[in-house]
Amino acid sequence: MRAFLSPPFLYGDERRLVAEAFDSGYIAPCGPMVDALEAEAAKRFGFGGALATVSGTMALELLARALEIGPGDEVIASDLTFVASVAPFVALGARPVFVDADPATWCVDVALAERALKAHPKARAFVATDLYGQCCDVDALVALCDRFGVPLIVDAAESVGATYRGRSAGKGAWAVVHSLNGNKIITSGGGGLLLSDDTSLLARCRTLATQAREPVPWYEHRTVGTHGRLGNVPAAIGLAQLRRLDEALAGKARIWEAWLARMVGKDWLAPMPTAAYGRPNRWLTVVTLEGRNPLKAVSALAAQGFEARPLWKPMHLQPVFSGAEAVLSGVGEELFARGLCLPSGCGLAPELMDEMMTLLEGL
Ligand SMILES: *Cc1c(COP(=O)(O)O)cnc(C)c1O
Repeated sequence: MRAFLSPPFLYGDERRLVAEAFDSGYIAPCGPMVDALEAEAAKRFGFGGALATVSGTMALELLARALEIGPGDEVIASDLTFVASVAPFVALGARPVFVDADPATWCVDVALAERALKAHPKARAFVATDLYGQCCDVDALVALCDRFGVPLIVDAAESVGATYRGRSAGKGAWAVVHSLNGNKIITSGGGGLLLSDDTSLLARCRTLATQAREPVPWYEHRTVGTHGRLGNVPAAIGLAQLRRLDEALAGKARIWEAWLARMVGKDWLAPMPTAAYGRPNRWLTVVTLEGRNPLKAVSALAAQGFEARPLWKPMHLQPVFSGAEAVLSGVGEELFARGLCLPSGCGLAPELMDEMMTLLEGL
């Protein structure tokens, strides 16, 4: 590959902090790097606390476990998202109800969300995804979910560092999940963060992530949990990256601007819209094509060593969810049919972008 879709970008302090982690002796799922990552993440994003987990998916699973999701429970979720937003809930027995995207933001459509909640007022959770680094309309969703007494979880796996009305992605929701996977804007090699202002929820999730071990000297379990805490060594990488998040944001913004500059005058290509309420982290540059087939674009680019991808395939189109209920407008299907994610690594060379644009033009 000459350009990956979203390769990790290293800022230089990662090795030093990993060496520090080794020197501390904590080659374990706890230690000073984990503590520092949790404290600095809570401060940076403005939450009451943070829990570092082995993945973003695990952070979502811990929330599902904290809610005691079980067979027959309904969970409302964004339809246009990655499967990890809902998989942990479904694995525990929940029935998902999917809500289509808003064409102005590509995140969950609030009016359709209200319809879903009216039809399912006893839903146990609402999982809203911040798509491709753009925040969902969290104030509107908080107001809506409060009316129905349904906890709002923002899947901010893709929107680390993005802001909504000046606040961190998801701030105001019951809980927020970040991913530190290798393909996201900052990484620990693999990991996640659970952020919340509800410190008792965080304590509960910490216990659940530690095999639900009760705080007594012997091994005491009132329920079963899992093993989900991040290791001290990956936490060192995550901490080094978190401290350079502003550079990561600036780097992604530069790539986005460079792609935009190449779109001027090309009416067959339009960038993902930017919502007025926030500042996306530009994790990926995503476009829609007019009169050109995104799958053909993906294979033409791949033939030259460029990794582009179609958009997330909507959940209601996934075979695994073929029987699931969905409140649809057709927006997600349309975006899936026309959308293309372009290589967006911070180190992407301008000449390669020119070459890719020429390839797309010639389709
Ligand atoms: C990446 C991603 C996740 C999962 O995060 P991992 O750290 O890879 O487990 C969840 N939801 C969305 C929307 C994602 O893009």
